[in-house]
Amino acid sequence: MSKNLLPGMQCIARFDHTKPKPQELTFRKGDLITIVSACENKGWYQAHHHASGDVGIISGSALRERPPIKAKPQLSLMPWFHGAITGPQAVQELQPPKDGLFLVRESIRYPGDYVLCVCYGGEVIHYRIEYQDGTLSVDCSKKFSNLIDMIEYYSTCQGVLCSKLLNPKHKQGIKSAEEVLSKAGWLLSFQHLTLGKKIGEGEFGDVMQGEYLGCPVAIKNIKCDATAQNFLAETATMTKLQHKNLVTLKGVVLHNGLYLVMELLAKGNLVNYLRSRGRSIVPPQQLRFSLDVAEGMAYLEEKRLVHRDLAARNILLSENDDAKISDFGLSKSQLQLEDLSRLPIKWTAPEALHDKKFSSLSDVWSFGVLLWEVYSYGRSPYPKMSIKKAVEALKQGYRMESPENCPPVMYSLMRDCWMEEPEKRPTFKKIKEKLEKMLRESEF
Ligand code: ADP
Ligand code: MG
Repeated sequence: MSKNLLPGMQCIARFDHTKPKPQELTFRKGDLITIVSACENKGWYQAHHHASGDVGIISGSALRERPPIKAKPQLSLMPWFHGAITGPQAVQELQPPKDGLFLVRESIRYPGDYVLCVCYGGEVIHYRIEYQDGTLSVDCSKKFSNLIDMIEYYSTCQGVLCSKLLNPKHKQGIKSAEEVLSKAGWLLSFQHLTLGKKIGEGEFGDVMQGEYLGCPVAIKNIKCDATAQNFLAETATMTKLQHKNLVTLKGVVLHNGLYLVMELLAKGNLVNYLRSRGRSIVPPQQLRFSLDVAEGMAYLEEKRLVHRDLAARNILLSENDDAKISDFGLSKSQLQLEDLSRLPIKWTAPEALHDKKFSSLSDVWSFGVLLWEVYSYGRSPYPKMSIKKAVEALKQGYRMESPENCPPVMYSLMRDCWMEEPEKRPTFKKIKEKLEKMLRESEF
């Protein structure tokens, strides 16, 4: 890798290096390595070797960037889960029945229960997994809150089973998330993770501050297995994106569900910042926040990715007041559509709300609302209007008024973002150019 490597960057070793000189790291091809700092000797770095925990020096030429995770084939935290197949079909899947080969299926006879099918002595043994009062168990004595925990337990401990679970039989077309993430260098280890205090609340779990190999990080833990599964898609998206105005993913830890390990943005989210500092924030700062977000969005637009939840609460601020877009939970390739029940109505464009037409241009509408938030110091949009009333008013052509003391050019940009017809709204590329021009002119 010829470009400069920065502290905290995750890289993969390109070859084996097993006879190190003093202070050099020993590593093997494919090993995950984190940059600690640049050495005085150009092109050399102080780095942390994950597998051994050693710190030593390494040449940048021995390292390459991690490849992004592909969305297809589908990744699963439960590749051994085959859904509703019958007993005989399960036996078919498990040929030849080597000891410890297993899969889990949904019970057809007892809906809601599962069946664990394990090979032993040339046979397949079917254990009914009973679901009762929110817990799962095969023998009533040992209970689990989800299938992942159960499989993890019986992989190391035979318990009442005929054999330990040694070898998962993957469902066809499904790849193990653990294998794929690990091979591509995105799987971090739980041992190197230190959890600190809670810094935020997400919809699916708390966000904590912490450290990974001594680097400050933000950590989102998703405990429920089904939700964690959905978050894998978010993860795959995040591995593809690198931009100074997007929150970067450092990697994931598979333990107790899923941990997303992200760069830590020390100043938290933009709404809280706007609300707490209020009018002490100077106009050039408001303009810089707006431009940062527009730059990040122009990058997403170019990648044909729709965010769908652009709002000041999903913008995070670094120590130096750089604004970065977070929360790709709802972002999807422009061609896909799904669950609409959890939309942030007051930020969503009419065509997206009523006709499910999401696009970068519906993100532009949300950006207009975000601008309004920035210039009104974090007020909630459509103040004093219920959601229903706001939706009705918008249909009649109503638009929010200009925030107090907002520059007219900025309000005019908001109105352009709120054009009824998406095609009449500016693209993020245009918005970015416009804001850059405004910033240049304000500096004279
Ligand atoms: P959700 O996807 O459930 O909306 P978010 O990712 O928006 O969760 O996180 C919720 C809150 O946690 C944010 O508003 C912010 O205050 C805090 N937070 C999230 N990620 C980070 C981060 N990387 N650095 C600092 N704070 C963060
Ligand atoms: Mg959020």
